Amino acid sequence: MAHFPSAFLDEIVARTDLIELIARYVELKKSGANFMGLCPFHHEKSPSFSVSADKQLYYCFGCGKGGGAFQFLMEHDGYSFPEAVEYLAEKTGLEVPKDSGPAPQEEARKKQALALLDRAASVFSNALKAEQGKSAREYFQRRGLPEDIIQQYRLGYAPPGYGFMQKSFGQDDRILAQLEAVGLLFKGDRGYADRFRARVMFPIRDRRGHVVGFGGRIMEKGEPKYLNSPETPYYHKSELLYGYYEHRDAIRKRKLLVIVEGYMDVLALAAHGLPVGLASLGTAIGERQLREILRLHAEPVFCFDGDRAGRQAAWRALERMLPILVSEHGPRFLYLPDGEDPDSLLQKEGPDAFKKRLEADAKPVLNTWLDGLRSLAGRGAEGRARMAKKADAMLADMKDDYLKQAWRQEAEADTGLKLREQSKPVKATRSVSSYASPSARNQERFLAALLQIPSRISFLLQGEDNFILDDTGLNDVYTRALELAAANECVVQALLLDFPQEERIPLWASQSDISDGEYRKLLLLMQERHLKQLRKQPAPPEQAEYRLKRLQEITKKLKEVDINAE
Ligand SMILES: [Zn+2]
Repeated sequence: MAHFPSAFLDEIVARTDLIELIARYVELKKSGANFMGLCPFHHEKSPSFSVSADKQLYYCFGCGKGGGAFQFLMEHDGYSFPEAVEYLAEKTGLEVPKDSGPAPQEEARKKQALALLDRAASVFSNALKAEQGKSAREYFQRRGLPEDIIQQYRLGYAPPGYGFMQKSFGQDDRILAQLEAVGLLFKGDRGYADRFRARVMFPIRDRRGHVVGFGGRIMEKGEPKYLNSPETPYYHKSELLYGYYEHRDAIRKRKLLVIVEGYMDVLALAAHGLPVGLASLGTAIGERQLREILRLHAEPVFCFDGDRAGRQAAWRALERMLPILVSEHGPRFLYLPDGEDPDSLLQKEGPDAFKKRLEADAKPVLNTWLDGLRSLAGRGAEGRARMAKKADAMLADMKDDYLKQAWRQEAEADTGLKLREQSKPVKATRSVSSYASPSARNQERFLAALLQIPSRISFLLQGEDNFILDDTGLNDVYTRALELAAANECVVQALLLDFPQEERIPLWASQSDISDGEYRKLLLLMQERHLKQLRKQPAPPEQAEYRLKRLQEITKKLKEVDINAE
């Protein structure tokens, strides 16, 4: 990962208005010291998503997602960390330090490649408008795509025959090598040759709107029907979704997301006033794409052809979804009538009937699963046994324990057979006060108190105690927090970057209910515990005596605190 100086990251955080960043997607209302809104990461009816302006943190009390500006862009918009840094640096008028981020050479190469791909999109688009693009224009017209859609999605045309790229870009060897590197040319027997010929062209954009590759479709008969850019350093087909950049805002706003199979389906939806379609890039939909989809909207509808191939594709998507699925998700599956795709149905029935179909005919993922199992297993007692076995095997992939239990019960009811128990103990909930043991609870609250007001750490550093927290996860965060404070770093923001998996950090940091009085008591409890542990170890008499004296003082102080509290 690229390394950025921490002072630079602090400066970005200080200059970023997190409220403004989040308010683009979430309607925020002031509530006490914080802002509240409906969580963009899980489906909910009453707001549990809070944003603190002075701490520059967000936290959802419903699903536990939380962090600062970088984490929001990564989690919400799918940015990588360097991308999030770059984006916010640009937004806040800061320049990314030269010696950080990707190597300058690599950066320059990427910029050139993206510029070239963008130019290629314009070249194809101009070819569509020119005389030679007449048949392609007619094709789009026949398919019901109006001019504004063609413009917005930068649709284009690659003429038949070889040499179009050279004609458009010239003969410079360096440029030709670059065109090969981005997948527009390939090396044949007689030198460079155009990859895309006699096809309508669909530029594919990454999350930030850069054209990174192309899909090309033949207009009449021929094979292959679709041709896509090969994998390049900028084009990873397993990570991208067609329509993501163009539709992400509309999907969130309308709370509707339709996964379809082809580019033309995505565009047909948009042309009918439904800019909410996404499609994978000519391959089966993979886990990374499914994560992206469920993050964008918890209740997407997956549209598949009703034929055998369509049902198989749906089953594959369902299988890949199992490890990601949690009870907050509600994906549904819709099989279209034989021989139809969204494009053809929209042309026949119009958008309202199509929307009705989505509402009425799309089945919840659980029903799709049970139906699929039933048809795979066949009839009779053996069929029920096969179905139970297959259900068992698939349930093992699920991570959400409660959802797994619910699905198991449904499969048991369906087969009349008892499935194996595979439940692991349910993870502790996220609330700070949920521990059974008071000492474990105190330790977590102590850490929360430190992150809530980091100047407490500076005082702690001046003391003599070397606490070790029982929970290794807590202890790692605690130890790192002390290091960061000692180095005068911005503790919470740095912790968020150092522990991306620890979802409780923003919760701890945004706790505003740990008073100085409670903190003093927590500190005394920590010291008491620490000294008691130390007294179990052998020590020279002088030291043992000193420790005993301190322990007695602390115990006395604790009593006073309790009396004062009463
Ligand atoms: Zn949430």
